[in-house]
Amino acid sequence: VSDISQAVEKARVAFRSGRSRPLEFRANQLKELKRFLNEKEQEIAAALKKDLNKNQYDTTLYELLGLEGEIQLALENLEQWAAPRPAEKTLLTISDEVYIQPEPLGVILIIGAWNYPVALVVQPLIGAIASGNAAVIKPSEVSVHTAKLLEEFLTQYLDKDLYPVVNGGVPETQELLKQRFDHIFYTGNCAVGKLVMEAASHNLTPVTLELGGKSPCYIDKDCDLRIACRRIAWGKFINCGQTCIAPDYILCDQSLQGQIVEELKMALKEFYGEDPKKSIDYGRIINQKHFKAPTVLTNVSPQDKLMQEEIFGPILPMLSVGSVDEAIQFINQREKPLALYVFSHNKKLIKRVIAETSSGGVTANDVLVHFSVNALPFGGVGNSGMGSYHGKHSFDRLSHLRACLFSNGYLGGYGAGAYKNVPVHFRLN
Ligand code: NAD
Repeated sequence: VSDISQAVEKARVAFRSGRSRPLEFRANQLKELKRFLNEKEQEIAAALKKDLNKNQYDTTLYELLGLEGEIQLALENLEQWAAPRPAEKTLLTISDEVYIQPEPLGVILIIGAWNYPVALVVQPLIGAIASGNAAVIKPSEVSVHTAKLLEEFLTQYLDKDLYPVVNGGVPETQELLKQRFDHIFYTGNCAVGKLVMEAASHNLTPVTLELGGKSPCYIDKDCDLRIACRRIAWGKFINCGQTCIAPDYILCDQSLQGQIVEELKMALKEFYGEDPKKSIDYGRIINQKHFKAPTVLTNVSPQDKLMQEEIFGPILPMLSVGSVDEAIQFINQREKPLALYVFSHNKKLIKRVIAETSSGGVTANDVLVHFSVNALPFGGVGNSGMGSYHGKHSFDRLSHLRACLFSNGYLGGYGAGAYKNVPVHFRLN
């Protein structure tokens, strides 16, 4: 416990020293982070293999490449992101200098989840470093090998005091949550998200909550079922269904169900063979508690337990809806999901589904891909979370956008005379 408060205190002292602010320092730390990912790729792959049976290909593609892209983007744009941003002036401030200055918030707490255990702490960390903050990193204790690896190696590459790694389970996380931070960036489930927000409220600490939920996938009759099912099979069963934006359930016309099952079976056989347990490409459930084999279920009722909570595993229920209107209604009667998927040749129908529903993000005619575009803000809405990140969005999320005005008011203040001549809609009340 005293180690935890000491680590936070050290990070704060280091932040107050001002050394995390210069752009050159930020760029150097980002380059070190990249060096860590490159030099320790084998160790990272070995830890992920032990934790989740991730193969080398999945490790590179789904954990590391995205991070390298984010680091590169930050390095290329840091100067521009951190520069003062000119703001549009009003008539009253026409001769003044008016701008927005992004500034670091201070010490950020990053709490990660176990399903993509490297990416989910390193990606927010890239944003924290780029925006000039200190960050205390708490990897998930559930992915135990990766947590150890991050503790052992991250501090060898990064400034130890500014970016400490704190490992431990619930008691340690709760102790961390008692400390004062300037932002808490939490990835995980909704129930713990509420505890994080409650703890944050004691110090009025802002939070980003990257949560989960049941992401629906609507398949229209007018679509290429073969392609749709291959893509859904990929997005659903990758990492054994343990992906926050995996399609959670399918909504489609009753008449499509048989064909969808056949197409999914074919795709799964092609990806993982007759017996996925023997496949080197198929991930594993993180622990005994979550264990179950890949399954597609038809004719599921909305009242079934399966439809009440996020599945987060290789089970794909299918529910029949008679029309797109019914699908929209079904989605809107539930909590706002993290992602939404629509498969259709009909662009108007897709636009309608987007216009009449809400979700953290949407991909049409594919799954998961919106996550990979760092120009798109990634995050939830309502029950699936608050705040978003990736690319410049991470930088802005972990910065304070400070309003700055340099007055050049030669009138010596806005006297009543000057004020009278200002049009009504520019006046302050
Ligand atoms: P988890 O069990 O690893 O928990 C996440 C973190 O919360 C851990 O660091 C853990 O120490 C901490 N924690 C757990 N219980 C706690 C408690 N009682 N008090 C304080 N801290 C506690 O991960 P999880 O929650 O099982 O992760 C799966 C969930 O995360 C799913 O709902 C998934 O959709 C969501 N998720 C969301 C995203 C996203 O980017 N939006 C990404 C991955 C996972």
